[in-house]
Order: sequence, then C-alpha cells, then structure tokens
Amino acid sequence: MLAASTLIILTTLAGYALLCAIRPFAVCRKCSGTGLRNVRKGMKLCRRCHGTRYRLRAGRRLHHHARRLHHDGTRTRPTADKEHLPWQ
Ligand SMILES: [Zn+2]
Repeated sequence: MLAASTLIILTTLAGYALLCAIRPFAVCRKCSGTGLRNVRKGMKLCRRCHGTRYRLRAGRRLHHHARRLHHDGTRTRPTADKEHLPWQ
C-alpha cells in the first residue's frame, strides 16, 4: 500500500517536472490569458502578468531559484594561487 502511494506521488512529481521543462509558462490565472482586467471605467493591463498573458509555473520558478543558488555558491574559476588543504 505504501509503495503504491509512493509510486503515484513520484509519478506525479516527475510529470510536473517534465511539464515545467517542456512548457515553463502557463496562462495567467488572474486574467485567464487576456492580459487585461475589466474595470468599470475601461480596460487596463493585468497587474499580475503585466499584459503578457502568461505566468511562470511554480516548479520552474523553484528550478530557477535552485540554479541561482548553485551558481552563486560555486566558484567560476579554480584558485591556482591558493594552497590546497589536505581534505580537498
Ligand atoms: Zn494576467
């Protein structure tokens, strides 16, 4: 029973990760993809998507955050003049 539910959860996560890799943008939920918001005095641009009609998926945003953390925490060039410690 535990293995079946774990398999379902892992399959769902893998499917969402694949979806975020293939289609990172989704239709804006606030304006339903119109890019406009209806106000009584006229139409204005959607405040959430700024009129682009699309939003970045949460999984893709998480992926970007993780890549930025990895990039910021990784040296770009090895330091040749620095003495290597025995455990390195
Ligand atoms: Zn919008």
